[in-house]
Amino acid sequence: MSLARYKKKRDFKETREPSGKVKRSKKGLIFVVQKHDASHLHYDFRLEMEGVLRSWAVPKGPSLDPSVKRLAMEVEDHPYDYKDFEGEIPEGNYGAGDVIVWDNGQYLPNPPTDDPDKEARRQYHKGHLSIVLLGKKLKGEFGLIRTNREDKNGARRQWLLIKADDKFATDEDVTEKTASVISRKKLSRDRK
Ligand code: MN
Repeated sequence: MSLARYKKKRDFKETREPSGKVKRSKKGLIFVVQKHDASHLHYDFRLEMEGVLRSWAVPKGPSLDPSVKRLAMEVEDHPYDYKDFEGEIPEGNYGAGDVIVWDNGQYLPNPPTDDPDKEARRQYHKGHLSIVLLGKKLKGEFGLIRTNREDKNGARRQWLLIKADDKFATDEDVTEKTASVISRKKLSRDRK
């Protein structure tokens, strides 16, 4: 796995984001969702795979309502240590703005398997991930499905994030929970 694109976009003398190495959880796989108040507010949805965090920018954030499809644009892989990153990316740098860890936990590809990393990779390459999230805010089964839309370079980066209909499905808006799950901090836009 390569973090070359991640590193190329950033100046680590300027930003406190982790420079990053390829690294794995000791047991199982983790996911993290960061809320990022950049030029456009978005949620970064990240899944551990092959020792990096595969990443998607979700402008409206995840939904627990199975009738809602949320656009998720695939972005560069992030280093494993990014899972704990909160704070300010300074003005003038890539992604400038504040970041909090909005949700995190383990995830499992569906169906259960002895080698979840391999199964997650297989589903990713197929363009159809079926995963169970064991987060604090996000729980239950989700689908992440690549669409056929190509960008101007012919790359298919557009995916849809959709809650599966299970006991965790609800039409309550989970994005109303605004605090970080590791520090309880909120973005300045969410402080009252
Ligand atoms: Mn971001």
